[in-house]
Amino acid sequence: MQAIKNLYSLQEALQEAGVKVGRNKKALCLWHNDGSPSMHVYREKVHCFACGRGGDAIDVFAATNGLETKDAVQALAARFGFQSGVPPGMQARLDRQRRRAQNEREEAKNIESAYWALCRLLHRLEDSMKIILPDCEAMENDLARDAAARVAVLLSDVEAVLDGLASENQQERRLALQIAKERGLLT
Ligand SMILES: [Zn+2]
Repeated sequence: MQAIKNLYSLQEALQEAGVKVGRNKKALCLWHNDGSPSMHVYREKVHCFACGRGGDAIDVFAATNGLETKDAVQALAARFGFQSGVPPGMQARLDRQRRRAQNEREEAKNIESAYWALCRLLHRLEDSMKIILPDCEAMENDLARDAAARVAVLLSDVEAVLDGLASENQQERRLALQIAKERGLLT
């Protein structure tokens, strides 16, 4: 920031903006629709007493180019070839990429924990099947048969969702996670 200020003077910024400074050190304001010069120029600063706006060379550059201050800094940094300067528009793209990567990591984590939770559920269901099945066969136990049927349906649901969660295809993994949530398998 300071490095830019050293390289880019207010005089340069005003010249670039096409601002004519009168002998009374006043110019037409860059921030409001100025009828008569009310922007004061003093050393490296300008200030308008009509609208209260003003600033330094960077602010003048920002106002003339319709940029936010931080974008103006980046544009000037790029102009002067600073390594640290990220060109305008680039930062937004980097932010988006970072957010997307973060979302994907979070989703992958959710899918993985759903996978392990459902594996545990699968084992529990298989264990209860082992307990229920002998009852079904041993006697005419309708209750046990109903329970076994319910567990069997749940088992095949869980197996299908597990297959989906382990899929190589991201869309299928997403869909499986959604199904698992909708059917209340993860609670
Ligand atoms: Zn003004």
